[in-house]
Amino acid sequence: MSDSRAQALAYVQRHLADFEAALGELIAIPSISTDPAHKDDMRRAAQWLADRLQRLGAQRVALFDEGVHPLVFGELRAERDDAPTVLVYGHYDVQPAEPLDPWETPPFELVRRGDMLYARGVADMKGQVMAALAAVEAVRAAGQPVHFKFLFEGEEEIGSPGVARVLEAHADDFAAAFCLNPDAGMHDRDMPSITYALRGLAYFELWVSGPSHDLHSGLYGGAIHNPAQALAELIAGMHDAQGRVTLPGFYDAVRPLSDEERQRLAQVPFDDEAFLQQAGAPGLWGEPDYSVYERTTARPTVEVNGLLAGFTGEGSKTIIPARAMAKISMRLVADQTPEHAAASLRRYLEQHAPPTVRWELVEMVGAPPAYVDMHAPQVQALAQALQAVWQREPLYVRGGGTIPIVAELQRRGIPSVLTGFALPGANAHGPNENLHRPTWQKGIQALVHFFYNL
Ligand SMILES: [Zn+2]
Repeated sequence: MSDSRAQALAYVQRHLADFEAALGELIAIPSISTDPAHKDDMRRAAQWLADRLQRLGAQRVALFDEGVHPLVFGELRAERDDAPTVLVYGHYDVQPAEPLDPWETPPFELVRRGDMLYARGVADMKGQVMAALAAVEAVRAAGQPVHFKFLFEGEEEIGSPGVARVLEAHADDFAAAFCLNPDAGMHDRDMPSITYALRGLAYFELWVSGPSHDLHSGLYGGAIHNPAQALAELIAGMHDAQGRVTLPGFYDAVRPLSDEERQRLAQVPFDDEAFLQQAGAPGLWGEPDYSVYERTTARPTVEVNGLLAGFTGEGSKTIIPARAMAKISMRLVADQTPEHAAASLRRYLEQHAPPTVRWELVEMVGAPPAYVDMHAPQVQALAQALQAVWQREPLYVRGGGTIPIVAELQRRGIPSVLTGFALPGANAHGPNENLHRPTWQKGIQALVHFFYNL
């Protein structure tokens, strides 16, 4: 082990109480992004982080105000100019603590009971932010191997509405080889994990119209194509009997799952039965050649989110509606893009919409999928770091959802590697949110290893 690495790990051991005290300060600021009454607290939390970065010796620290809440930027350069640059991500906003009744301790006070720490945000994700800052402080004291940049947003819990504006306005400041995002969790205290892929999103409204106004079905039924029916026919054709999407070219850009990747994914604990139970549906559905976990994380989808057509009130009204609309969304996987997915849907409609109706496709939000090759050096650096501390290989996990900041950074050519040290029972967003202290401490050590591995 290099001297610096050993020194940094020893530094972590000596300063654990300080780190926990600092976490307590950050926890005590009720930075609830969704509640306008806490606008000042949001700035206070941002300022607290800025001060912390300043104390670490950051050459540059700034609060950027183009978004909804201040975004903290910082830069902490290593002595060696040619060192790689890591963008450390965190969010300092938290969910509201209400309802307060089920809380056994005051939500905005860091309370330690046995091995557990309790407070709003301790898991999601002030504890993870503090773990990253602690690791940075330790490597800073022992010989900093990489350049650090910091991006701490205050909008994660409200969907990061202003973050794209900030990144756009300060694109050069955030330039980095990749982003470390410690906002993911672990499957178990003995199962460190790396999330290397998330799905992207494309969202549409599909309007189908026919007659200029609602028609009497007794007079026109049988000779005028019903737009609700035409829309249903179009939707029905979007999947085959196996649950495969039929849009032309839809799968063209999908990166195939390698045998090795499938083997890794099979190691992620996933209980099909429990999944079905949670869904409350009568049975599973979807592409038979893929596991349920793969279908929900590594395969793209087309979903009907809502339908609007004709008369749905009480009683009966015999009409052919003038138009019908479906909200349609897609979950995308690497290397699909929202633009490519939209083109694929448009081509399908051009080929299949009958001349008896008109159609219009409205493209709404889109976010690219995120993906980092599990063999990429930064993923392997993290894997070895987690292994050094936990003495076992980490799980390689894919997420089925979309995280706006990850998608936005990906769009700007900055891939994210996600990890984190919150456990499944952490109750993020719920009462008695908690963090397992020994796991958190291991997490700090793992991040120290990670920075040196880079
Ligand atoms: Zn979070």
